[in-house]
Amino acid sequence: MENPVRFDLWAVVRPGVAAEAVAELRRLDPHLAEVEVRRRVSRSWREWTFIPLAGRVRWSQVLAVRAAPPAWAGQLRCYQEGYSPDEPPIGYCPEHDLHFGGCLGCHVCTGFFVR
Ligand SMILES: [Zn+2]
Repeated sequence: MENPVRFDLWAVVRPGVAAEAVAELRRLDPHLAEVEVRRRVSRSWREWTFIPLAGRVRWSQVLAVRAAPPAWAGQLRCYQEGYSPDEPPIGYCPEHDLHFGGCLGCHVCTGFFVR
């Protein structure tokens, strides 16, 4: 039996607030080198690429971030844990704005997720 699904949140950095994004990402992942964080943030706002905002979170945390996103986040995307914007196209639920893998459909619709 698999464990209920958690979620990964990704975001695009808005131009002009890169410094805030760098500070927050360094706080989220202190092991990542500052030069690497700056590279990712810069690429995100220049090329509209998504960077990780939060990993392995509960659905209630997804809703909380959506209700009050960080000032630097221009667009959010929510994925089933372990999937990312780098994957080829996977399933999408418009009702929950959730990208998911596998053939069982949206895990929020089916109720198999961590609340
Ligand atoms: Zn759904």
